[in-house]
Amino acid sequence: MTHRDFKVIRGGQILDPLNDSPKAVDILIEGDTIREIGIPGMETPPDVTVVAADDRLLIPGLINAHTHSHFALAKGIAGTWNLEMLINAGSWVAGNRTVDDLHLGSVLGAVEMVRKGCTACYDMVLQLPVPTVEGITNVARGYLDVGMRAVIAPAMADRTFWESIPGLLDAIPAQMRKAVGKVMTAPFDESIKSCKNVFARWPFDRDYVRPAIAPSIPLLCTDSFLVSASRLSREFGVGFHTHLAESKVQALSALKRYGRSLTAHLDELAVLGSNCVMAHAIWLDADDMRRLADNGTSVAHNPGSNMRLGNGNAPTRAMIDAGVNVGVGTDTTSCSDQLNMFEAMRLAALVSRIETADYERWLSPADALRMATSNSAKALGFDKIGRLEEGYKADIVFLDLTNINYLPLNVAVTQVVFCENGGAVDSVMIGGRLVLNRGKFTTIDYDGLRARVAEAVQRMTVANAGRRAEIQPLAPIIGKFCVGLTREPHHVERYLQAH
Ligand SMILES: [Zn+2]
Repeated sequence: MTHRDFKVIRGGQILDPLNDSPKAVDILIEGDTIREIGIPGMETPPDVTVVAADDRLLIPGLINAHTHSHFALAKGIAGTWNLEMLINAGSWVAGNRTVDDLHLGSVLGAVEMVRKGCTACYDMVLQLPVPTVEGITNVARGYLDVGMRAVIAPAMADRTFWESIPGLLDAIPAQMRKAVGKVMTAPFDESIKSCKNVFARWPFDRDYVRPAIAPSIPLLCTDSFLVSASRLSREFGVGFHTHLAESKVQALSALKRYGRSLTAHLDELAVLGSNCVMAHAIWLDADDMRRLADNGTSVAHNPGSNMRLGNGNAPTRAMIDAGVNVGVGTDTTSCSDQLNMFEAMRLAALVSRIETADYERWLSPADALRMATSNSAKALGFDKIGRLEEGYKADIVFLDLTNINYLPLNVAVTQVVFCENGGAVDSVMIGGRLVLNRGKFTTIDYDGLRARVAEAVQRMTVANAGRRAEIQPLAPIIGKFCVGLTREPHHVERYLQAH
């Protein structure tokens, strides 16, 4: 390396999630890594590039443990849908996408996340009918084009949503069942073969973008599929991502289908492990939490989506006490609107307080910041991100302390979690590169992106109109069936005892 690879950030204050108070420091960066954190004005190599950070609070880039880039174009589509109505609509909302559209989704999602202080995410992305090398690498290219880190997990299923909930197909009137019958899933061995190709031919630097595998929802996957996906993830040393017990409907359907909880079922199949990230994990009992902890499995807590879809409140404090690594995610635009990790952190801290008056059980601002940085980093599996320390990657968010959110600046960590809405994000550095510099992207043309989005939305609205007309009339039937299912008293009792 030559001296040209050095940068120094001067004049800022850093807030590391493991230290509660900010410190005035200079940061020396070599290539993509923090080499030294020293006193203001510290000596640096000659000809170093100086990045001014006066009146800036420097925090580690926030890390989004769960999102879906294929829904980045679906902002505002859902008003009062519950989870099952949202999944019902999936085949027209995400239908008829080209591989260019998949790239567009990841660019759009990444732009929003970076603009709001997020530097890495776990993207469970759907490509229909099966993931391809071209499609998934195009998603990765989108993140690289913006300059963001991502784990990209193709979402797959070998059972349709309507088949996944016992009794649901019978509740759909015969003439409407035809529309459902047109939606097919690929055989699981085809999906597994495709993922194997993606893993074997991955052309990118895994420090920035890396592949993973995602049987999307356990109930939508046969046991053979879950086991094959898990084996493949271990063979290639990649992550395994799924949605776990997100809604009460899923929890009850699992009891009917497997005769045990979803978590117990995955554990019995030997799927759980330290390479696994379970999104949501709301409907868990103490035994489920112990199983997750014993296997070193991480959870992605998505408080905004959980409330938006009426799914309930994940038992975060109990999971943490059980020894589970809990990170924070936004989920996607169609179910939590903003890909805003500041909002997700704040909601995580707030919803921990609605279940108990015992303030010692609440998540503190420091807890929420750690979950959204170092805990999420562990979930994604990247080395050396999520903290501002020597030897860590230079993924740094510059917050403008002249912004109203910090007027006055009293307790930095509390204000970052409770006052910040992303409005004070001034610059974002990822791997030593200023991707957002003083409010402007250095990597992409925002107006060009707007034009691409407008064209794609118009084209896909026309292409998906027929499917939408067939599927949408099912929404109230599915919505009401699922509400009715959750009222079955003997099942409810078990969950009341567990919570
Ligand atoms: Zn999700």
